[in-house]
Amino acid sequence: MKEGIHPNYNQTTITCACGNILEVGSTKKDIKVDVCSKCHPFYTGNLRMSQRSKRAEAFKKKYGME
Ligand SMILES: [Zn+2]
Repeated sequence: MKEGIHPNYNQTTITCACGNILEVGSTKKDIKVDVCSKCHPFYTGNLRMSQRSKRAEAFKKKYGME
């Protein structure tokens, strides 16, 4: 078996710090991560960010800053 052509590819789990567990195919085993797609700030913070900017827009209009 030539190296690199057939890596030791197994089904494994990624365990996130938030408790979310993802099943993936990987050459590594029992991967642990701090953030995943469920708790990453890009996803969890995106909505709050857009709400905050909307509030800022309303503030600007209210006080004639726009
Ligand atoms: Zn997570």
